[in-house]
Amino acid sequence: MPTTTNALPHFSLDFTTLEAQLDQYLQRCRDTIIKTLEQKVHTWETLVEPLDLVEDQLSQFFSPVSHLHAVCNSPELRQVYENCLAKLSDYHTEVGQNEVLYQAYCTLSKSPEYAQLDAVQHKVIENTLRDFRLSGVGLAEAKKLRFKEIQQHLSKLTSQFENNIMDATDHWQYHTTDLTALAGIPENTLQAAQEKAKQLNKPGYVLGIDFPTYYAVVTYAQSRSLRQTFYTAYQTRASNHGPDAGKWDNSELMSELLALRHEEAELLGFANFTELSLATKMAPSTDHVIRFLEDLAKRSKSFAHKELKQLQQFAEQKGFEGPLESWDVSFYSEQLKQSEYHISQETLRAYFPADQVFKGLFKLLKQIFDLSIKPIQAETWHPDVHVYQLTGADGQSRGHLYVDLYARANKRGGAWMDDGRTRWRFSNGDLQQPIAFLTCNFAPPTEQIPALLTHEDVETVFHEMGHCLHHVLTQVDCVSVSGIHGVAWDAIELPSQFMENFCWQKPVIDMISRHYQTGETLPDNTLKQLQKARSFQAGMMMIRQIELALFDFRLYQSPQKLTGQDIQAILDQVRKEVAVLTPPAFACFQHSFGHIFAGGYSAGYYSYKWAEVLSADAFSRFEEEGILNPETGKSFLQTILEKGGSAKPMELFVAFRGREPMIDALLRHNGLTIT
Ligand SMILES: [Zn+2]
Repeated sequence: MPTTTNALPHFSLDFTTLEAQLDQYLQRCRDTIIKTLEQKVHTWETLVEPLDLVEDQLSQFFSPVSHLHAVCNSPELRQVYENCLAKLSDYHTEVGQNEVLYQAYCTLSKSPEYAQLDAVQHKVIENTLRDFRLSGVGLAEAKKLRFKEIQQHLSKLTSQFENNIMDATDHWQYHTTDLTALAGIPENTLQAAQEKAKQLNKPGYVLGIDFPTYYAVVTYAQSRSLRQTFYTAYQTRASNHGPDAGKWDNSELMSELLALRHEEAELLGFANFTELSLATKMAPSTDHVIRFLEDLAKRSKSFAHKELKQLQQFAEQKGFEGPLESWDVSFYSEQLKQSEYHISQETLRAYFPADQVFKGLFKLLKQIFDLSIKPIQAETWHPDVHVYQLTGADGQSRGHLYVDLYARANKRGGAWMDDGRTRWRFSNGDLQQPIAFLTCNFAPPTEQIPALLTHEDVETVFHEMGHCLHHVLTQVDCVSVSGIHGVAWDAIELPSQFMENFCWQKPVIDMISRHYQTGETLPDNTLKQLQKARSFQAGMMMIRQIELALFDFRLYQSPQKLTGQDIQAILDQVRKEVAVLTPPAFACFQHSFGHIFAGGYSAGYYSYKWAEVLSADAFSRFEEEGILNPETGKSFLQTILEKGGSAKPMELFVAFRGREPMIDALLRHNGLTIT
């Protein structure tokens, strides 16, 4: 068995040698499979461990490559990355369809040795057998071949889909020298726009549609036509509409991705892709998912209607005429929120310098999980990135965390967590320590002002930290169900959404807030208003999420090949049923809906709401026993965070909560209960 140095990864990669290196790793994997299958008897030590080892080495090699592709994209890397993806896709299909290897696992699962293995090892073997079936191991040769082609296409097309969004987002710019045109837009956005203009040797201001800038414009710009311009550019990215119509058009890719996934599902004997999707998830059936979403919609819709009516009336009082358009909603919502709660995300920024938020968050994690987090020096991919070491209550290192907070060109939008390495205890006792990458796209610091986060940004930090903790704090020794590995996708948002709840609590706010000029914590009154405002437009937000989730699920339930128009028709139908606000005909956000076309949420977007029931209910135990209660924290750590994918999510939830999940806490946190 190997020993591990636990050295941190390198990110200064020579792209010209990557493909050749990948070939070597893949060859080692293939050789190991052949050697393993030569054995007469298959045991955990002779079958599972050697294969896990070479595959883990492969994923450790490729992790920095795919991470750089997301956060430091370049044309050279893009080409190499796509070639590598094709090779990886082929390899994974080949292994998944290797019948001799499948039989070896079957033999092990029926051998006397199986009874000697523990529950976690059983879960590994169970998952592996399931994954063989979902890779088409039992198919006839021609179908196997087709399955392999489908996987190749999927990996290529999803990567193109993401690239189109990134290029469309990076390309569009708004340039002006007239400051009055930008009236209302917050100071930090203006400063960034000025710095961007300077970099481009232009006078005045240059604003893009990276999310922080887009959000600032549609929420604060007084000029209605400016808001409309930005809304149009953002909501038509990578499509056949809008200012860059047809340039990075994802229309055809959407149709192809849906058709390929449908064909994949049919090949494997499922009626459609939603059924294949649920084969690895916690939700028991497709009907159950639809009922769950429709029930939530029913509970939220009257609230959403009321909220929209209130917003329309408010806008009219402010002199607005006619029905509100999509580019008016954020703008008037922000004003209504300010007038009702005297709270503005922009003024809150001053209280949440990024450094303090992390300092406070680390203090919270010390308090509830007895976890120590210290910055260390290490190689990274950008000067803004910070690296931390996490140490447990026993003084032992638990792993490392890389934090990359700010939006920049050639970086994929949004916020996410990625695994850099996974915990693994080798049979000789050596421990491989996990690594997590936490990525956000916040407004960067400017020359005059440090990075300041809105409270929404703070929630995002807590969310992604939840994923990182799930990955790094795991105590599972088997690599394939350790950390976030092997966790059912509709339960994966449990730790992340759970963590969000903390940033609404007074003791936590006291830890994470310090006014960047006065050093004050967030005043109590402001916090009270912020807490009240938590359920502001909660009905509309809930309905929006359900709209996305139903749209996703219905798309993947559809039996026939869908054109761009069909996709739009399904979206329109869902909106007719649940939405309270219909966007204009030209808007086509689906072209940049990477989650369901390119990410892991295909026929799985419902997972956010599904897991929110779990996370809200889990947090309600802290509400009952004390927000900073270390005993409750220890229980959450031991029953959920440390367990990773080593047991069924329902079993883990019940172990923590003492019963199955209830929806009440979710509705209560969102103010969606009739009092
Ligand atoms: Zn998440």
